[in-house]
Amino acid sequence: MKEIVIISGKGGTGKTSMVASFAALAGNAVLADCDVDAADLHLVLAPTILRREEFRCGHEAIIRQADCIGCGACLARCRFDAVRHIKGADDPFFSGSRTSCENCTDVCVRSCPVKLMVMIRAMKESCGQQNEHAFVVDPTACEGCGVCVWACPVKAIDFPERLSGEWYVSDTRHGPMVHARLIPGGENSGKLVSRVREAARTIAEERKTELIIVDGPPGVGCAVIASVSGASRVLVVTEPTLSGAHDLARVLELTRHFNIPASVCVNKWDLNQEMTERIESEARRVGATIAGRVRYDSSVTEAQIQGKAVVELRGTLAGEDIRAVWERI
Ligand code: SF4
Ligand code: SF4
Repeated sequence: MKEIVIISGKGGTGKTSMVASFAALAGNAVLADCDVDAADLHLVLAPTILRREEFRCGHEAIIRQADCIGCGACLARCRFDAVRHIKGADDPFFSGSRTSCENCTDVCVRSCPVKLMVMIRAMKESCGQQNEHAFVVDPTACEGCGVCVWACPVKAIDFPERLSGEWYVSDTRHGPMVHARLIPGGENSGKLVSRVREAARTIAEERKTELIIVDGPPGVGCAVIASVSGASRVLVVTEPTLSGAHDLARVLELTRHFNIPASVCVNKWDLNQEMTERIESEARRVGATIAGRVRYDSSVTEAQIQGKAVVELRGTLAGEDIRAVWERI
């Protein structure tokens, strides 16, 4: 089984357009969108979700208001300023420049997509004189270190695993796809990437598919390392700009470090031929192969508008270039 990972060093180079076209050209590959912080392959491939799994990672502190005696030890010990002391109706969340909580029908609690409901509930409890003072953990600031749990004299702090995102197994018109969504502020995208790749490998084995195509994240951080480690080949899609050249150098250093064969493709190469040549010569110098060039073509935007891969539009110049890159890869 072969696993090709498409990365970019920097964002916005056309990596996902390339992946969508590869998916169309391969026909029978398993697809994995490992750009979990900002997944967008689904915008082109319009997947039908067949399976949905929670991704839990790390822990978060949640104060049980009924058991808290208000000693303030958690506030004093938290190094991340995640514990907040709310002073009932005097708190600026409820008065002063902000609108007071009218204890309506829990609209905020039901609609909050990022689990701020824990905080909202505690604030509501401390409002209306139900509880003059309350200590509450801001879930977006809590780093899950556990110090407050240890410091609380009455063990009033729960410490459950944190819901950080979801991952999905879907069907697309070009084959099965595993993809994910990290909740804003959710941590450990590298672990979620590993989960996505693992699920893609399992599907490939079950279906006896020989190829996995991975849409990797930008940058050179943890999520990229989790995307490329153990891959058969990495294709780096870059653009002929100074920042494209700079980020390509960093990402090729990474692939060299992990001993992964790397190829380079300059997208929109005709916008700066001199820079393209400079990039290709530098890539060769550090041991990467040149997979080809893709010219600037407004049909790429047209394909995006139509929710298609570029190669699905007939007779486009960029589509021809991508086919040539695919053949070489
Ligand atoms: S778990 Fe750590 S970061 Fe979170 S509130 Fe407690 S002390 Fe602060
Ligand atoms: S340490 Fe425990 S009892 Fe003290 S304020 Fe924090 S949650 Fe409440």
